[in-house]
Amino acid sequence: MKINSSDFRVKPDEKVDLKKRATEVKPFYHSKSDYKKMLAAHVKELSELQSLLYADGSHSLLLIFQAMDAAGKDGAIKHVMSGVNPQGCRVRGFKQPSAEELKHDFLWRTNRCLPERGQIGIFNRSYYEDVLVVRVHPELLKSQGLPADLINEKTIWKERYRSIADMEAHLSRNGTRVIKFFLHLSKEEQKKRFLARIDEPDKNWKFSKGDVAERKFWPKYMKAYEACLGETSSKESPWYVVPADDKKNARLIISDVILKALRSLKMEYPETTDERREELMRIRSEL
Ligand code: ATP
Ligand code: MG
Repeated sequence: MKINSSDFRVKPDEKVDLKKRATEVKPFYHSKSDYKKMLAAHVKELSELQSLLYADGSHSLLLIFQAMDAAGKDGAIKHVMSGVNPQGCRVRGFKQPSAEELKHDFLWRTNRCLPERGQIGIFNRSYYEDVLVVRVHPELLKSQGLPADLINEKTIWKERYRSIADMEAHLSRNGTRVIKFFLHLSKEEQKKRFLARIDEPDKNWKFSKGDVAERKFWPKYMKAYEACLGETSSKESPWYVVPADDKKNARLIISDVILKALRSLKMEYPETTDERREELMRIRSEL
């Protein structure tokens, strides 16, 4: 079935109301085997386009994943990128910042990990945490080592959105396509997934007590996401609010968005010139 992934895109300056954005939509697949077939086709094309991205060597792609716990970031990354040559793709996770990272501005740690030309970079969490978890827990802001007169909670979030939007525009002007996914999970579905992590022994390792504590801040997180999505979604570097209650459907939407982005890049395999061809033939005859 055709996937209208653009329906999930956030328009620049849109006033996002997450209650009006679906956490579940009618599946784009008819059955589990249909899902597998569709995902396999996406993965195959993704792998081919990644080879072209690498050979062309001028563009890069940065995919950012943000979500509440248990929304399926890790699974989506694993399944969607499963066919891509590991040499052309790098996944980086960003957790609580280290002491060294806190000695720098909030874009420093991620900027060091940006994908080089020809590569796909994936951020599992990102600099967006600095306007999400840090906004929900303002005490974190105070522990970031900023000069006291620069910590003004009335202005700092707007300033940070501006820093992010400027940085992403800069990346876009320099050949990096940035695409951001917010996996939109319902609070009920999160509860179901946490219960499964407690009840099923082979999922116990995924469960963390801290996740339940963060769940209590759900409305504050939703507010922080709503504020950030519209302000930092641009034509070049859009946000997608992906319904995440159905993991399979989410993976199809995400892979569709990535495919469309890659298809839209002007890329070609380096051409072999006549001279090069002749040289190759000479070498061939010497073998
Ligand atoms: P999983 O739970 O699937 O292993 P995760 O991404 O949730 O993956 P955790 O170790 O559970 O990993 O959580 C990382 C935590 O780090 C998150 O709660 C996130 O909000 C927090 N974090 C990330 N960046 C920052 C930041 N800049 N400041 C403070 N906390 C941050
Ligand atoms: Mg977690």
